[in-house]
Amino acid sequence: MTRWRYAAASDTGLVRETNQDAIFVDDSLAIVADGMGGHAAGEVASAMTIDAVYEGFLKNPTVAGLQAAIEAANTSVLRGARENPDHFGMGTTVIAVGLTRDEAGVSSPTIFHVGDSRAYQLRDGALRQLSEDHSVAEEWVRMGRLTPDEALTHPRRHQLTRGVGVDGAIDVDVMSVNAQPGDRLLLCSDGLSNELSNEAIARLASSPIPLDDAVSGLVDAAKQAGGRDNISVVLLEFDQVDVAAKPIRKTVSSLAPPVAQDARTSAKPSRRRRRFTWRLWVATAFFLAIVGGSYAVLHWYAYSTYYLGNDSGTIAIYQGQPSGVLWFKPVKVLDTGYLSAQLRVSDQIALGATISEPTLETAREYARALHSAWKLSQKPSTTTTTSVGATTTTVRSTTTTVRATTTTAKKR
Ligand code: MG
Repeated sequence: MTRWRYAAASDTGLVRETNQDAIFVDDSLAIVADGMGGHAAGEVASAMTIDAVYEGFLKNPTVAGLQAAIEAANTSVLRGARENPDHFGMGTTVIAVGLTRDEAGVSSPTIFHVGDSRAYQLRDGALRQLSEDHSVAEEWVRMGRLTPDEALTHPRRHQLTRGVGVDGAIDVDVMSVNAQPGDRLLLCSDGLSNELSNEAIARLASSPIPLDDAVSGLVDAAKQAGGRDNISVVLLEFDQVDVAAKPIRKTVSSLAPPVAQDARTSAKPSRRRRRFTWRLWVATAFFLAIVGGSYAVLHWYAYSTYYLGNDSGTIAIYQGQPSGVLWFKPVKVLDTGYLSAQLRVSDQIALGATISEPTLETAREYARALHSAWKLSQKPSTTTTTSVGATTTTVRSTTTTVRATTTTAKKR
């Protein structure tokens, strides 16, 4: 039987006004979700995901059950964004570790992961990152296009390639955890991993520091390093571990697999004819996989960015690469309503050269900022100072089920 103890906290940080992260932890399931989207939509997305994953795992505590729960979360967030204009574009990362039961009734820890929240394993003071970030910069590191050091400062390091609520289909990384008693498992949002080095995380999170002290130490250190994002931490320590009989490490897609041809429904062919048909099917499937894969990669790249452009005197937001990629031409997705003439001269020039942004929301924010900058330039400048406070929620070790929710900063 696998048993763990835990401590957790989610903090607004020092810069953001709200906490769009959400966390949950109990005796068999731990989740961190890092929401994104304006008008508090990120909070909604992360909370919906925590609820859906918790409910799904409660009904079916298996690998298939947790996988289905994340797919259900994806559907819920997409539907929520479609039905409420204020929630347009919302999404979230999710990283969860559940004690999943196999056919023999053995429960072992399994990680489920989408986005750039992380899972680390700690043993004897050493830290090992188990999850791979689903961000453009990190994908490029794995492809050899960037070095790890270049990725740390690359402008697309925060642009996600996968997320909950981004697309109708979702790919989830699933991996068994090969743990032993005394090991710790750390789940966190990027508000922690972006602020602290691996060495600092290992020093602050390792035993014998008590779990509660380790969690508060990690959050405090991230805030001292800048606290530029919401900070969420779930720290588990295994007292007893059962290892999966068949360890898993794979990416599972919610796309339905191709329907298999049922040979029994057709007349029995000759041996020569059957062999030819089998080879033809394999060759066709291989060809289609290559064509489909190439098309998907091109399509993803072609529409992976947004840019501002001048559309008959108004600022419009286009999705796609400015010069298009093969037959994938950029499409106009939003008219901001701001006049191009109502920009500073330098911004008008920049607009002509196109201004790229990773998401529709950041593009809208940028257009709004450009217009505000122009308005400010039309009158004497004033200075406003806003102080943002932060609150911290801490979940302490207990045998009772605890659900941690987002915390919201209040302006003082
Ligand atoms: Mg974050």
